[in-house]
Amino acid sequence: MAKIAFIGLGNMGGPMAANLVKAGHEVTVFDLVASAVQTLVDAGASSAETAVEAAKGKDFVVSMLPASQHVEGLYIDQSALLDVVDKNTVIIDSSTISPESARRVGAEAAKRGITMVDAPVSGGVGGAKAGTLSFIVGGSAEAFATVKPVLEAMGKNIFHAGDSGAGQVAKICNNMMLAILMAGTAEAIGLGVKNGLDPAVLSDIMSKSSGNNWSLQVYNPYPGVMEGVPSSNNYQGGFMVDLMAKDLGLAFDSAVKSRSSIPMGALARNLFAMHAANGNGALDFSSIQKMFADLD
Ligand code: NAD
Repeated sequence: MAKIAFIGLGNMGGPMAANLVKAGHEVTVFDLVASAVQTLVDAGASSAETAVEAAKGKDFVVSMLPASQHVEGLYIDQSALLDVVDKNTVIIDSSTISPESARRVGAEAAKRGITMVDAPVSGGVGGAKAGTLSFIVGGSAEAFATVKPVLEAMGKNIFHAGDSGAGQVAKICNNMMLAILMAGTAEAIGLGVKNGLDPAVLSDIMSKSSGNNWSLQVYNPYPGVMEGVPSSNNYQGGFMVDLMAKDLGLAFDSAVKSRSSIPMGALARNLFAMHAANGNGALDFSSIQKMFADLD
């Protein structure tokens, strides 16, 4: 079993770190929020006062932070973990960040002889808790083989997307698709409800018809249709609107750089940006339903 530092214990990182503990790894955790650290200590992890202290002498460092600036700050600009970890420490960043940022940190690690992969995830908080996440890895074939056994303690499908940054490109494409599908699902349910349908009946029909998609299957956006999802808990927990807006911004930047047209993604970006600007940034992203139904 490996010695692992885990940095960033939010909605996703908390349950992911807990699964590493359950698998028998020796896990040391750090987060800026003391209560998040305490939850993991209660689950059997050790805690550290700083990210630097957590990362020293470990086989692996796993990070699950909000955005590019946090990841670059952790490894290079502020905490400078790349300057304190052992040469044989392998770094796994599972945050969703820009491919450029992932490549910058990967290249700085390589300069120091340290192996790093980008390994963003899909599957939501439910997947993080159940240990069934999909990991989308960017890095060398050797690095992929090294990190796979660790990722298997937290996920079910472990993909090798390509070289450094490729995991982030695939993740950004996936989340653009997710945003489009969630907004479309909310729009369709809103239309049905305003025309007299029961949202649960309509969701059942669409999930067994050609409109079926992940949002209908496991993450229904309409309150009360599905148990154990954010829509049935006042849109608390889950995947914040602000984070989805960030990911759609990453898709937009990638489209500009590669001269790709993303009309549906651009519309989804504007919808989620408007929704965030209306004070919903900290709610789960399925709360986009509020735009298409009178819920209050
Ligand atoms: P979150 O905001 O719940 O958690 C982020 C955690 O990082 C917080 O606990 C915060 O205190 C901590 N943090 C921030 N800066 C730190 C630092 N310098 N040192 C230590 N800790 C620090 O976010 P989340 O929902 O867990 O998402 C994390 C990442 O995973 C994001 O990039 C997100 O886009 C991605 N993601 C989220 C989901 C989801 O369903 N929530 C799914 C897939 C991917």
